[in-house]
Amino acid sequence: MNDVPYKIYLDEKELPKAWYNLRADMVKKPAPLLNPKTLKPVTAEDLRAVFCDELVKQELDETTPFMPIPDAVADFYKMFRPSPLIRAKFLEQALGTPAAIYYKFEGNNTSGSHKLNSAVAQAYYAKAQGLKGVTTETGAGQWGTALSMACAFFGLDCRVYMVKCSYEQKPFRREVMRVYGGKVTASPSMETQVGRQINALHPGTNGSLGCAISEAVEAATCNIGYRYVLGSVLNLVCLHQSVIGLETEAALKKYGVKPDVIIGCAGGGSNLAGLIAPFMGAKLRGELDCRFVAVEPASCPSLTRGRYAYDYCDTGKVCPLQKMYTLGHDYIPSPSHAGGLRYHGMSSLISELYDQGQLEARSVAQTDVFAAAQQFARTEGLLPAPESAHAIRAAIDEALECKKTGEKKNIVFGLTGTGYFDMFAYQRFNDGEMVDYVPTDADLATSFAKLPDVV
Ligand SMILES: *Cc1c(COP(=O)(O)O)cnc(C)c1O
Repeated sequence: MNDVPYKIYLDEKELPKAWYNLRADMVKKPAPLLNPKTLKPVTAEDLRAVFCDELVKQELDETTPFMPIPDAVADFYKMFRPSPLIRAKFLEQALGTPAAIYYKFEGNNTSGSHKLNSAVAQAYYAKAQGLKGVTTETGAGQWGTALSMACAFFGLDCRVYMVKCSYEQKPFRREVMRVYGGKVTASPSMETQVGRQINALHPGTNGSLGCAISEAVEAATCNIGYRYVLGSVLNLVCLHQSVIGLETEAALKKYGVKPDVIIGCAGGGSNLAGLIAPFMGAKLRGELDCRFVAVEPASCPSLTRGRYAYDYCDTGKVCPLQKMYTLGHDYIPSPSHAGGLRYHGMSSLISELYDQGQLEARSVAQTDVFAAAQQFARTEGLLPAPESAHAIRAAIDEALECKKTGEKKNIVFGLTGTGYFDMFAYQRFNDGEMVDYVPTDADLATSFAKLPDVV
């Protein structure tokens, strides 16, 4: 395969024209969302109070395989897509592996991650519905940045509840959002009822993603002309992220490369779901033999150590319940440096595939992750986001395995973003001060005990 270039770009006319809905090819579908008050499957009506109409349709549609990408979204995509699929030849050489390693790089835009793929779609549908603005939460800041960019483009107001510890630790992330017009509030705030409640219960709290979601939902439902948008976990987000996998599929086909293993980091599961979507669809239809690997932090191991159960998606229990691999909605992961992977649950789509045995999962310790990030930066040049480096760790381990067995596998992984806003984490690693947090079984048992009693 010497004729495969280092970077495979697609022509504009080869870009995907429709998103792919993997659920259409699943015989057993992900479990439905439940209304938090009635505990019955949610209706479109329930969801429309919180989410945009068109997004509700996409969320609930599990039979239509392809959904057209609106022209305005496709045009916006052209500013940063196709993203390159890169052959990691220098990393292969450094490892001395017979395997070929490819990575799909999604950090090629100012938000620095794949999240812009869904942000622009969600902002488009909000604008098309005639809304004034949207609300959301952000943890590490990537999603809030992506959404601020998309809202600036479509002329929408954007209110972001940013987890307080990130708000304080990452002041420059906040400023990027403000450049794009995003209004950023540290969460928990005193602006919402749920924020005031959380502050009263836990004075001085640094916040969590679960709290920020509750605040953003309240802000959307209490303001006319606003809806809430979410950057991961939901089926609709996985749908938009399929653009990553569709481009990867087209690029590999162009050079006759058949993937043997596809690897992605998993926080809420959206980039992984998007990257694997067309390949997993082909596997489910019996057309492709390929392994899929989800990589999560050892500090927040929802797939590898969680329970497959209905749980709340947020601390304030205002969002629908979802059946997913979860550590419990009360679980507060230790302060790992991969902010985008610190969510207690996992998308129901990825959870169901994992439960069916179609997908493998492994967890990795953060010092091993940063060692992989450093090796990757020094060989391939790009500075990876700590989240993305989880996938790098697993890809390197697969390639080293091939070195032992002599197998010439094609390994593909998702490099979801860049690490420019994570220099505090890199500093800890460089100074040898980074430690690994792994919850004990007793820690997990405490939060499992608070899972809602719903079957
Ligand atoms: C948010 C984020 C992730 C994790 O989110 P998923 O929904 O699991 O894809 C991974 N990498 C980066 C760079 C992120 O910003």
